Amino acid sequence: MSEPIKATNKEVTEVTSKKAHCDGPEFSGHPRIYLDMGDEKQVVCPYCSHVFKLKS
Ligand SMILES: [Zn+2]
Repeated sequence: MSEPIKATNKEVTEVTSKKAHCDGPEFSGHPRIYLDMGDEKQVVCPYCSHVFKLKS
């Protein structure tokens, strides 16, 4: 049994608010941080590179 390989190394979460928070993977020691998109339509978590994208 083989798992499909993902084409991208970044995961994207669509959010409805410009403010998002990220906890990271459970075991990573990633603190909960709050991200604000400001004038952008997406923000990247500096800890885990997870992308939060504003739903249009
Ligand atoms: Zn993160």
